[in-house]
Order: sequence, then C-alpha cells, then structure tokens
Amino acid sequence: MPNTLKKIQQSQDILFEKIIKKNKESYFLDTWSEEYFDVNKKGHIIVKPNKTGKGIDLYELTNSLVKRGIQPPILFRFDGIIRDRIKNIYEAFENAIQEYDYQNSYELAYPIKVNQQKHVVEVLKQSDGTHPLSLEVGSKPELIAVLSFYHLDSKKETLLLCNGYKDEKYIELALLSRKIGLRPIIIIEQYYELDLVLKLAEKLNVDLEIGFRIKLHSRGSGKWASSGGEHAKFGLNVHEINQAIKHLTSLEKENCVKLLHFHIGSQLTSIMPFKKALREAARTYVEIAKLCPAMSFFDVGGGLAIDYDGSKTSQDCSMNYTVDQYARDVVYSIGSLCKEENLKDPMIISESGRAIVAHHSILVTEVIDISYALDKNSILEPPDSEHENLLELYEIYNNLDEDNYMEALHDCWDLKDDIIERFTNGALSLEDRAYAEKVIRHLMEKILKLSKKLKFKSKEIEKLNDQLLDMYFCNFSIFQSLPDAWAIDQLFPVMPIHRLNTVPTRKSSIVDLTCDSDGTIKKFVNPKKISKSIFLHELDSKAYYLGIFLVGAYQETLGGLHNLFGDTNAVHVEVDEFGYWELKHQIEGDTIREVLEYMQYKKGDIIQNLLNSIEKSLKNQTITLEESLMLKKNFKEVLESYTYLVV
Ligand SMILES: *Cc1c(COP(=O)(O)O)cnc(C)c1O
Repeated sequence: MPNTLKKIQQSQDILFEKIIKKNKESYFLDTWSEEYFDVNKKGHIIVKPNKTGKGIDLYELTNSLVKRGIQPPILFRFDGIIRDRIKNIYEAFENAIQEYDYQNSYELAYPIKVNQQKHVVEVLKQSDGTHPLSLEVGSKPELIAVLSFYHLDSKKETLLLCNGYKDEKYIELALLSRKIGLRPIIIIEQYYELDLVLKLAEKLNVDLEIGFRIKLHSRGSGKWASSGGEHAKFGLNVHEINQAIKHLTSLEKENCVKLLHFHIGSQLTSIMPFKKALREAARTYVEIAKLCPAMSFFDVGGGLAIDYDGSKTSQDCSMNYTVDQYARDVVYSIGSLCKEENLKDPMIISESGRAIVAHHSILVTEVIDISYALDKNSILEPPDSEHENLLELYEIYNNLDEDNYMEALHDCWDLKDDIIERFTNGALSLEDRAYAEKVIRHLMEKILKLSKKLKFKSKEIEKLNDQLLDMYFCNFSIFQSLPDAWAIDQLFPVMPIHRLNTVPTRKSSIVDLTCDSDGTIKKFVNPKKISKSIFLHELDSKAYYLGIFLVGAYQETLGGLHNLFGDTNAVHVEVDEFGYWELKHQIEGDTIREVLEYMQYKKGDIIQNLLNSIEKSLKNQTITLEESLMLKKNFKEVLESYTYLVV
C-alpha cells in the first residue's frame, strides 16, 4: 500500500477506535457485561463465554444464521457462559471456605423454575465432575422434568430439593426417586405435609430425609421483599418447626431432619438485610441441630442478584455486593456459630438460579421501521390559511429565542388545546390541523435545541425531551420475550450489535410488534439515572440488529402469547478459545399453526372451514378458480410459518 493510503487507513482506524470507546461508554457496556461481551475492531459485539480468548462476532453469527434460514428474532444461548457462572460461584464459596477454615463443602443447586428448557438443563447436567449440581423443584411438572433427564450414570448422587406445595403423588414420586440414584430431601413448607410425608415413606419403605423451610422474621430487599418476613406465603414459623420436632422426636424420627432452608426473595439488591436473615437462619440451624443431631445441610435459597444496570447499588435492578462477598457472609455466619456451639459444620447449599443463567441468553431483533418524531426534511412555511390560531402559532415559532422559550412552550400548549377543540367543532379543516401539528413539532424541537445550553433543566423540558423520541419498531414481542420488562419494570441492557464504529444519532424509544401500547421498552441502562431513551443509528441498506442482553432467567417461562406471537427461534452456540463456533441445537420457534393449536384451533378444522368458504364463494362467483388456488396456497404456507415478520 502506498504510504499516503496507509496513513489515511491509520487515522481512520484511530477514529473508529475512539468512536467504539465512546459507544461502549454510552451503552455502559463494561458496567453490566461481566466481561462476557465486548466490541471488536469492526464495531461488532463479540461474546466471550470464558471472558477470555478471541470471542465470537455476534453480528456475523446472526448473518450466518439468517443465511441458514433462521430468522430474527433469534434467542442466542451461550452454554459456555452458564458453565463459567457455575465455576465463578463455586470459586467464591471455595475461597470463603478456605479463608474461614470451614469444615465442610458447598454445593450449588439449580432451581429449575428459572429456566426449565431441556437444553439449558442439559448444560447444567453436563457441568464437569468437579462442580456437581443439585436440583431444586417446586412442582410436580418440574419433578417429572428432572426425573425424565436424570440418569444413573451420573458420577455422584444428586441432591434433589423438593419445595413447593405437595400432594401425595408429588411426595411419592420424590421419595421413589431415591431408588434410581437421586437423593431427595423433602422440604416441609406447610405443616400438613409432615404427616403425609411420614405416612408415605412408611408405606413405600424408603429412607426419609426432610428439611424445614423457615419463615424468617427478617426480610430481604428489592422487588421480592415480601417473599420473606412472617407473612410470607411459604414456610413454617418457629412455633411450627418446634412442634414438628417434638412430634418427630415422640416417634423417634428426629434423625430424619437434615436441612434448614430459607428463601427471602429473588434479586436481593442489598447485602445488609440478607446478612440479618443469615444470622437469624444460622441461629435457627444450630438450635435445631441440638435437637436433631443428623442435621447436615444449611440451604440459603436463591436471591443472589444480577447487576442489570451496572450501578453496583441497591436499586431494584442492581446489587450492592459481589458474589465473593455473598459467599463469605454465608460461610462466616454459619461457620462461626457452629464453632461457638461446638457443632459440625453443615454442607452449605445455595439455590442461585438467576445468577447462573441470566447472562447466557441474548435476544437479537431487527429494526423494521422508524417513526420519526420530526421528519428530517420537513420545512416550515407560513400557513396558507388565514386562521388566527395558525398565524399565532407560526408567530410564536418565528419569535422563539433564548429568553422566551418557556413562555412560548406554555402558549403553545394552550393553543394546541384550542386548535383541537376547534377542529372537533368543525371550525378547522383536516389540513389546518395537520399544519398546526407540524408547527408544534418544529417548535418543540427548537425549544429543545435552545434549552441544550442550560445547566439545569426544568421538569417540563425534561418531559419534552422524553416525548420527542423516534420510535424504532422491532421484530419481537415484549410479552413473549421480555415479560418482566412489562410486568415488573425490569431493566434489560439493549444496544445495537453492529455499527458501533459509527455514531448513533437518533434519540429513540423501542417498540414491539404487538398492538398494545405497553409493548415498548421503557427503561434503558444508565447507572446514574435510568434513561427513558436510547441512541440508535439511522437505517441504511442493510438490516439493523439490536441485542437485548441478560435475558436468560425467568423470561422464557413467564412469556405469553399476546397477539399470538409465539416462541422465538433459539440456538445454542458453543465457542472455543479461538473464536470457532458450533451450533449445538437449533430450536425452531412456534409456527402459526402451533400457537393456534394452543387456542384449540385444529389444523384440519381451519383448512376445512376455509375450503367451505371458498366453495361457497366460487358458487357465488365472488372468486375465480385461479384466485381460490392462490388463497389456499398462501393460507397453508402462512399457517406453517414463523409468527414474527419475515423480512
Ligand atoms: C425462585 C426460587 C429460587 C431461585 O431464586 P433466584 O433469585 O433466581 O436465585 C430458589 N429457591 C426457591 C425456593 C425459589 O422459590
């Protein structure tokens, strides 16, 4: 390459690098990515399941899937991230165990409700022998799911923690699982379960191991704080535990009691309330252990949080502690008390669901259209009409300056009400009203520009700022793929997965395909103050893809069929350290026929009904034979196709 060309290339590279850095900052990538995601020199997102190595280019991966006929929205699952999370949690506990000279081990339990997808659970099952995983189930269907994939060839007996409301069949199945190599511990959540469990264990002649779930006085923090406290839905209070132990002792069965469990809610944002709960639970553990000498498991439940907004605070979508700190607090609280009371250290269990799987999934969706807040090429001319309202509006616009813009804003709002009123009464034409709306939009835009220089912005200006957003329409359904964003205002990081070496210039909101005004993403990551908008790129001739991150926990199960948008396509991707990848599983999303079948429309009936309508219409000559063929063909094709837009 000639020297000058080389120089141009170099300065170009430097510019790209700068923009990439700036983009990473403005999407706060480093604050929430946990080093699993980064941006490469091309300005594409890369995924590094082991946090190291070359990583995989998510944009190129998406393109290559599209070429295989797998259309967005696509849910990417990176199995390696699950394994890395498991490793990290184990390491945190192993370090704490060493630090405090704790005389027992730690085991991570996977609460299957967090993501029951077969291929996800399979990854957990295959987790290498050094990190055995226990399983936690909370219902009969979940128990059946576990029994269906569990095989005796596993290297080690797998603990099966049985939570939730239980009937006879649930308990029987759980107890019998001991005969095929599992180690079930029935966790008593309601007092009535105790007699039932005793009766059934005797009937089936199996060894019985039980745990108590305690309703602690201490509560957690964050959105799920009501899972703890004395009025929690689940668990026994101390009085009931005391009574249960007396009852068991009178039957000489106190040695069945093996475990104490508490769960004070998911996404525990703050460590202080958790430490308080830990102290209360640890004390309860040692008191029980004095009466039931076979006690050997201390199960601290779920709740280990994810820092979705990267703020490292006790805000709802964050956490003010690290996994290491969490592990140290658990190990220390139970360890120090057991030492004091001269009791054997129990095995520690945590049921950390969200913390294992949240990071591993990314939803990639395509922008299909933009509705601009202000048409870029729109030029404002004086009104054709002589109407006083319109003339007044135009004058406000023309006279707008730094001194009067707040006043102008108020005048404009008054006028707007007036104009709509007059339109409704027939005094203004459609064209007049359209002109008025155009002036108002230009006015707002100009006011915003003028207010940019201000250090402190009034509430009205901030509101204006949030209203003048471009709407980016994306090919997905919030209700199917991000139900928590709709139901509980959960925050998920969103950003383009390519073009990150160019500056995004459009201040936007993101809306989905559903005919529901709730189908919009309302919150975007900003550790200082959650943002209502996101900067995105102008569309060019190529597809523009956005990634929605950290969606691996809870979203798939809670998702619903609003507007009959079904499951998205999903793929499991394995990546090696050199960035080579392999698709382990390709799971086709629901077809239209499938979602209709959930609603009891049977394929045979649907087609028969169409044929009947066609026959009648042929007879009435409202359709030709040729047209009827086309209708039939299209109908059948669409019936078997993806529920999302195919672009
Ligand atoms: C939901 C649940 C969990 C998982 O909680 P995470 O916050 O996802 O870790 C663990 N244990 C029990 C009993 C649960 O109900």
